[in-house]
Formats: sequence, structure tokens, C-alpha cells
Amino acid sequence: MKILVLNAGSSSLKYQLFNMESSSVLAKGTCERIGAGGTITHKKTGAEPLFEEIALNDHGVALARVLELLISAEYGVISSIDEIDAVGHRVAHGGEQLKKSTVVTESVIKYLETIVPINPLHGPPAIAGIKACMKLMPTVTQVTVFDTSFYSNIEDFRYVYPIPYEFYEKDRIRRYGFHGTSHRYVSAELAKCLGKPIEELKIITCHLGNGSSITAVDGGVAIDTSMGFTPQEGIAMGTRSGSIDPTVVTYLMKTKGYTAEEVEDILNKKSGLLGISGLSNDCRNVSEAAANGDERATLAIKILTNGIKKHIGAYAAEMNGLDAVVFTAGIGENQWNIREKVCRDMEYLGIEIDEDKNRNFTRGIPFDISKEGARVATWIIPTDEEYMIALDTQVLASK
Ligand code: ADP
Repeated sequence: MKILVLNAGSSSLKYQLFNMESSSVLAKGTCERIGAGGTITHKKTGAEPLFEEIALNDHGVALARVLELLISAEYGVISSIDEIDAVGHRVAHGGEQLKKSTVVTESVIKYLETIVPINPLHGPPAIAGIKACMKLMPTVTQVTVFDTSFYSNIEDFRYVYPIPYEFYEKDRIRRYGFHGTSHRYVSAELAKCLGKPIEELKIITCHLGNGSSITAVDGGVAIDTSMGFTPQEGIAMGTRSGSIDPTVVTYLMKTKGYTAEEVEDILNKKSGLLGISGLSNDCRNVSEAAANGDERATLAIKILTNGIKKHIGAYAAEMNGLDAVVFTAGIGENQWNIREKVCRDMEYLGIEIDEDKNRNFTRGIPFDISKEGARVATWIIPTDEEYMIALDTQVLASK
């Protein structure tokens, strides 16, 4: 079975074509600057990548070009579009109703349209991508896989915010959680690595990238997560503040005359590692500056690692135990310095890592960094959201 996985952003479209029999990627690429020019980087596995500048007016035009590339003589990997058995769409938000991966129908699209107000950035491009596919590949099964659905079992006292209840009831303001596909994938991979049923494990998964979230997975079920109504909540990120006293928002508006959009822009794009360090949102650069003695970079790294530590402690308390901690995504997979700072002085919880293994880890594979005899297993697990989406799509398309 061949499955095309699509991830549409506001001006981008990422794609991967999987051969499910061999669990391999046949080709992948990214369309960028959609609606404002257009570029495509396309890579057929084992070949040199192709880069082209081409007018991409909308997601439909981008997808049409991707399909052309996939069947082209030089860069293609299939001889006809008919070889694609199903398409899996990454959709950030499934709202309260779409609780698991779903075959696309008119009513799914209609529901996604009704929740655009709570998903203004990712909703419209995702819907555009789905509609483009339905037009260009009308007979192919389309599946939507939601970042939020891993959190559909979180209990109300963990997702309802302590503000007047009508804001939940009428406006659906609540914790939704994001990155669920990644947390679901790495927690399942960890259980395989440990050779234990996931039902018996209490795991904390730390997805640390430009956007970061931490999830408590108890017996394979996500019971709490750091991101909330939007991906803004939780720990400090590349440019996002994470959780702060909400009064800071109104205080800034009242004393500086900022509009809602301006405060949102500050908290979303000018905060986090960038805002504290004044240097960069990239954790590699901030870490390097901190290692060279830069005070604000040092502070930024401390704020980040302390935030992760606090969530691990909180989630171990919520689960009443802890068997394993997983680090994943750009920072989690690559930056030993962050893992080392998070895991230091955590013996009380049973977390002890082997500093040598942590520094000299092998990239790109699941890697155990636990100290010999540690009560809690600590692993680096490379995430693969696209493959998880392909797996869900395969199951639904085979029905
Ligand atoms: P996104 O949330 O955009 O998917 P990533 O998961 O790619 O983000 O993570 C980006 C972060 O990972 C950056 O802060 C970057 O500094 C950090 N990072 C560290 N080492 C690497 C690496 N080798 N490759 C990619 N990102 C890395």
C-alpha cells in the first residue's frame, strides 16, 4: 500500500510518500512560500534533491505540482497517481468532536470549518489541502489525523480552566493539547524498546523543538499535557513564552497601549529563548552563547530546563509513579546539554542518566541514556509523526 502524507501550513505543504509494505519513504519534500511566490524542494529517496522556484498560488497548485513530480520520469517514484492508495492529512485541531483519526467526509470538513475560530492559523490551510486532494484525487480515501486526538481521554478537571464555566460550555475554551501524534508515536516506540506492554508503563514524553510540549502517558493513555487551548501554554519555547501570569497580558495592554494582536505577537514570536537571550530562537545558538558565558543566554537555558523539570515532577505526581522519560524532537533528540540539565538532581524521582552515554549518543535511533540500575528508564526516541499518520491512514483505508 502506498500512502501520501500531507502537512499543510499557512504558506507551506510538506509531503511524504510511504511504501507501507517496506515501511519506507519513497519520496518527500516541502513546498514553501505558497501564495507569495513559491519554491519546492523534492527528494526521491537515494537521489539528489530537486529545488525549483515555481509560482504556487495556492495549496491546490502546490499539490498538483507535487503529484506531477511524484510521477515524473526523472524525479518520480510511481508511474501513475492511481498507485496512491490513500492520503493522510495532518490536522492540528480536531476540536472536541473529532476524537480519533477519521476518514474525510463532507461532515468532517464542515466540522473543521466550524472550529476555525479556535484554530485560525492551522485550520484554513489544512482544509485547503484536504479540498485540493478531493478535487485532484476524487477516488482516493482521505484520512485526517489530529494532533489533539491523543488527548481525548484527559479528564475534565485537567482540561477545564478555572474561569467561569460558561467559557467552557459556550465557547469551548479548554485544554486541547498538541503534538499528540508525536507523543503517541514515541511512547509506543519506547514500550517496544523496553519490551513491555504500554498498558503497564507510566511514561513522560518531552517533545522539545521550536514548539515544545510534555505529556504524561499512563498505560498508553495521555492523561495530561502542557499545551492547552493553543500551543502557547506550557514550557518556554523558541519564540513562545509558554505559561505566564495571565495578568501580564492585561497589564501590558493597559500600561503600554498594546492591542490584543500586538501582545499575541510578543508572546508568540518574540518571547521564549529568543526573548530572554535577545540572540536567537535556536537552542543550539543559545546553548553555545551560554557555554561562552553569556548571562541572558544562560538564564534562557535555565528557564527552559527548569520548566521541563517542573513538568516531569508534576506528571510523576499525577500518575503516582514513573517508569520512563522520553526526549524527542529537534532539541530532545540532539541536545545533550539540555537533557543533562533536566535530568540532573532527579535521583529522588528515580531519574539518573549516564552522562557519558548522554553526550556520546547515537543520532537517529532509539537510544537508552539511563544509568545502570536507575529506577526510571530515560531514552532518546526520534519522533516520526508522518509515519504515525501513514499507519493510521493505512488502518482506516484498509477497512
Ligand atoms: P519544530 O518545532 O519547528 O519542528 P524542531 O523539532 O526541528 O522544531 O526543533 C528545532 C530546535 O531543535 C531548534 O531549537 C534547534 O536548535 C534544535 N536542534 C538542535 N540540534 C539540532 C539538529 N541537529 N537538527 C535540528 N534541530 C536541532
